[in-house]
Amino acid sequence: MAQHFINGQWVRSTSGQTLPVIDPSTGESFDTLERGNAQDIDKAVGAARAALSGPWAKLTATERGRILVRMSQLILERQEELALLESRDTGKPMSQARNDIVVAARYCEFYGGAADKVHGQQIPYMNDFHVVVIREPYGVTAHILPWNYPAQMFGRSVVPSLAMGNAVVLKPSEDACLSPLAFCDIAREAGLPDGALNVVTGLGEEAGDALSKHRDIDFITFTGSPEVGTLIQKAAAERTIKCVLELGGKSPQIVFEDADLERAATFVIKAITQNAGQTCSAGSRLLVQRSIYDRFIGMVVERFKQSSAGSPAMDRDCGPLINAGQKQRVEGFIRRAVDSGIPVLAQGSVVADVPTGGYYVAPTLFGPVPRDHQLACDEVFGPVLAAIPFDTEADAIALANATDFGLLAGIWTRDGGRQTRIAKQMHCGQVYINCYGAGGGVELPFGGVKRSGHGREKGFLALEEFCNVKTVVQYHGE
Ligand code: NAD
Repeated sequence: MAQHFINGQWVRSTSGQTLPVIDPSTGESFDTLERGNAQDIDKAVGAARAALSGPWAKLTATERGRILVRMSQLILERQEELALLESRDTGKPMSQARNDIVVAARYCEFYGGAADKVHGQQIPYMNDFHVVVIREPYGVTAHILPWNYPAQMFGRSVVPSLAMGNAVVLKPSEDACLSPLAFCDIAREAGLPDGALNVVTGLGEEAGDALSKHRDIDFITFTGSPEVGTLIQKAAAERTIKCVLELGGKSPQIVFEDADLERAATFVIKAITQNAGQTCSAGSRLLVQRSIYDRFIGMVVERFKQSSAGSPAMDRDCGPLINAGQKQRVEGFIRRAVDSGIPVLAQGSVVADVPTGGYYVAPTLFGPVPRDHQLACDEVFGPVLAAIPFDTEADAIALANATDFGLLAGIWTRDGGRQTRIAKQMHCGQVYINCYGAGGGVELPFGGVKRSGHGREKGFLALEEFCNVKTVVQYHGE
């Protein structure tokens, strides 16, 4: 039974209530987790606050970094065991789960190494003055995370905060939280002092809501849906604390007639089938220049037909979706597109002998999708790709920017001038040229604009997000 991790101890919920842990590949429960409430959150925040005046606060930046690097080593040593846990909890294919565990370790390595390399500044000011800018932890940071990449999200959100010396309270998703809990044991073994890391599991509207509104948190970072992100921003505004939001996406892949079409086709498929399309940075809109539309779509169709969804052990392109609600939601998008008369250009398969009761959906390609149809504008969060033709460069730019989201964009062209012109005009946080990278890339600042959120994670910029900048002005006399 998975329990809360508070002040270095595994503890039950105050209420004694639990929630089932469902295996998405079978639809069956295989464990329980604690259903945390406001009292559990209060204990966790109290433990984090106390840690800020205990042994955790007395460590040097180098010592904090060494603990994170040790975590990285322990995670890699247990890669297979953790990957099995991650794939059972989320349904993702084993090779993807293995990769996610390596990425989680990489976050610990990167931010462990960076912990003592975040330096302040000295500013030349008036004579007789000495001015320095120092960076210090915010204090207690609250983290609310989604189910699609629990291990990676832990690395991306929690680890840089610890590197900067904050004390963390994490509320992972009720749909997938086993790897973040496993990382608590690893953190303890690596020497993390009690109270620096606290995890309370439970429902969003209970534990998540209580955490976002707690009076004693200093900072909140949220990754999830735009709807809940808006609630989090309101809660942060009530207390005037900083919040970082990483929300959804509807990212375009823009393919021009001069592109390396073989390469583009391969990446286009992966960008929508990876994690069964349940990736915020999924390339879910395929914008293709009209002069090559039929030829290129033909290449994508061939590959799409060969794609398949299976159980984690089958290790196909996709695993199941996370739960019954998500399956219904994705099937709803497919049904409405069919009802609107949008042609299904290709469909992958669901492997015949997957367990009944699992939440499998075959990868599906639609096109041409009308530009104002919901399939062209809304986030599906499933393996569904919308193809749309465009005519000119200006048309492609307008179309790419025409959603409420702005997370990633992919540009496929051999024309160097066009690559830069378009990259500059994309309203988003990351642009990929002749490549497309979701997931990994821990060094690369990541985040969105518009409804995709604000603030940046990954890379050194994340460390700046997680610290307060203080200017100290000293008059030292003549
Ligand atoms: P979600 O918003 O439903 O849940 C995310 C987290 O918020 C969960 O831990 C949930 O328990 C919690 N939550 C729910 N209601 C809450 C409330 N009222 N108060 C406080 N917390 C609450 O999202 P999801 O379904 O888990 O994930 C899918 C969404 O996340 C998609 O829109 C996807 O694009 C987005 N996402 C974004 C990124 C990114 O980096 N931009 C990464 C992954 C997922």
